[in-house]
Amino acid sequence: DGEIDFKEDAKFKQHMKNEEAVSEFAKSKTISQQRQCLPIYSVREELLQVIRENQVIVVVGETGSGKTTQLTQYLHEDGYTVNGIVACTQPRRVAAMSVAKRVSEEMETELGEKVGYTIRFEDVTGPNTIIKYMTDGVLMHETLRDSDLDKYRVVVMDEAHERSLNTDVLLGILKKVVAQRRDFKLIVTSATLDAQKFQTFFGSAPIFEIPGRTFPVTINYNETPCEDYVEAAVKKAITIHITSTHGDILIFMTGQDEIEAACYALSERMEQLISTSKKRVPKLLILPIYSQLPADLQAKIFQKAEDGVRKCIVATNIAETSLTVDGILYVIDTGYCKMKVYNPKMCMDALQVFPISQTAANQRAGRAGRTEPGTCYRLYTKNAYRNEMLPNPVPEIQRTNLGYVILLLKSLQVDNLLDFDFMDPPPKDNILNSMYQLWVLGALNNQGRLTDLGWKMVQLPLDPPLAKMLLMGEEMECLDEVLTIVSMLSVPSVFFRPKDRAEVSDAAREKFSIPESDHLTLYNVYQQWKQQQYRGDWCNDHFLHVKGLRKAREVRTQLLEILKTLKIPISSCGPDTDIVKKAICSAYFHNAARLKGVVEYVNCRTGMPCHLHPSSALYGMGCTPEYVVYHELILTTKEYMQCATAVEPQWLAELGPMFFYVKESDTSMLEHKKTRKEEKTAMEEEMENLREAQAEAEKE
Ligand code: ADP
Ligand code: MG
Repeated sequence: DGEIDFKEDAKFKQHMKNEEAVSEFAKSKTISQQRQCLPIYSVREELLQVIRENQVIVVVGETGSGKTTQLTQYLHEDGYTVNGIVACTQPRRVAAMSVAKRVSEEMETELGEKVGYTIRFEDVTGPNTIIKYMTDGVLMHETLRDSDLDKYRVVVMDEAHERSLNTDVLLGILKKVVAQRRDFKLIVTSATLDAQKFQTFFGSAPIFEIPGRTFPVTINYNETPCEDYVEAAVKKAITIHITSTHGDILIFMTGQDEIEAACYALSERMEQLISTSKKRVPKLLILPIYSQLPADLQAKIFQKAEDGVRKCIVATNIAETSLTVDGILYVIDTGYCKMKVYNPKMCMDALQVFPISQTAANQRAGRAGRTEPGTCYRLYTKNAYRNEMLPNPVPEIQRTNLGYVILLLKSLQVDNLLDFDFMDPPPKDNILNSMYQLWVLGALNNQGRLTDLGWKMVQLPLDPPLAKMLLMGEEMECLDEVLTIVSMLSVPSVFFRPKDRAEVSDAAREKFSIPESDHLTLYNVYQQWKQQQYRGDWCNDHFLHVKGLRKAREVRTQLLEILKTLKIPISSCGPDTDIVKKAICSAYFHNAARLKGVVEYVNCRTGMPCHLHPSSALYGMGCTPEYVVYHELILTTKEYMQCATAVEPQWLAELGPMFFYVKESDTSMLEHKKTRKEEKTAMEEEMENLREAQAEAEKE
């Protein structure tokens, strides 16, 4: 392939109706040349041979060597798609979307035809799809319907070194599939040299190494720790831009807010330079990338800049290994990333900023040496690198809430979770606490088995509390309302608040406010948009993100489909919105807080302080409610409750009896505490028994 017969070529051109099609054709040729330049191309034959001879293969190669985009196509070219789909899993949605698009271009087919992708709530595949990129979460969810994954011929588990929670669970599930289906192949790819661990996990699978081709990268450390790394990174980027001749810049930040702040500062600094400098200042193309950025803007990072224009990409750790942009010569590494961490004592997940690991720091630096020798500026000290950073990142499974995973494994008949084949088992405390939380929600019974509610919850691709809220909407007959709220909570905030028009946009938001409930405010926004025939210009006029609302509508449609398959009828409570508040309360009573100051609350169980956010509908409402439940706690400058709703204390006692009671006498309080403790101990004993039984079985 790639070679085009000259006569054919001429004939082909004749048939072309317009210029554009001709240039498309020319582009396709360069794409096939590009494919042949990738390191993986030089070992294509050997690689396919090893795959033919083995059922499980571990493939190791530098980032950018062509694993993600080429492996699936090689498998297709070698005939594996004749009787089944070749799937490739990604820990990140952005990567799944972007790579599928690239591969569809390389194969000259429409995205969603032969090549497609599926992420949660978005399925861009069709009956002809033979190469399917998907998030690891989606594939994990698919095992519910089809535990042997019969429609897949090969699964490429990409970016396995990231050790995402879903990847780790899938590794265990796929190990069983491999044992059950002789015709099934599994390829695990890793960008780092931790491949041996995967090899051992799969009982000595061969490791195939793609020869690397990288250039040396000079590392520069800060002399002293830096106070404000956003500011420091911006300064550094500008210095590089005005002192060096060529080469793009890549800055690593922790998340959307920082990235936006950095991009804003960069463009301001550039404007200043242009207006004050006597010499001509070269252009700088500033490009953000993070997971919530709309797809068309994400694609921009790959586009070639005009000649002589330098690109400066400001990214989360998505650019560490998942996405490769050629031409980067300078990396600025702030040394931090955002991670979801579960705190079992407080029973909550929090997205927090942590120092990265040494492995991650080296991955980041490596991004500068892909096309020629580069430089990496570490905005931390050498001492910090050596003594404060962990050698390797902690796998997600050991640091997050396992709620959904436990539901899923239980539904796959893995009764004893301590028995499941985890590459690195999660801490027992995490398992127990997550189980306890599921038990509190009513998804598990006293024996740790799935209840009817639990069975329904696992069918919904939602966090367990959100799934419960939806199902309580069924029971309390306000499903239509709750469905909209759950959909709105599943997309990024729809409120648009530009820095230079903060007051106008705040006033616009307040018009939607429903007193006492941010949840109902979200519902109100959606309803009004619906009344306006889902118009886009209406959104702009009211400072709402039209893309976010459209996404919420898609999520709603998808959830509606699932509810239909579960034969759950849609009901509505009409104007009696107290019922909706009760449904919310029934799923979020673990996040109940009691008023302590003016806008200050404390979590009823943990005593953790939590504040109303100034953007909340409850904020500045004359009198703030005594009790609220909130969707989640966000730690920024303070602990802020994200999305709060006022509740009655009797509801808490009625819906969360394991936590709350109506005070009558001291004895009843003591009794309550005692039962609660007994119940928790019973669960723990059950787990302990299971573990002992397992140990016994192993001895025999
Ligand atoms: P690996 O998975 O080994 O890190 P990839 O297959 O992702 O490598 O990338 C191979 C090459 O394809 C890289 O040079 C990268 O720049 C290019 N590439 C990947 N995605 C895109 C895209 N969306 N647009 C343009 N080029 C891309
Ligand atoms: Mg890759």
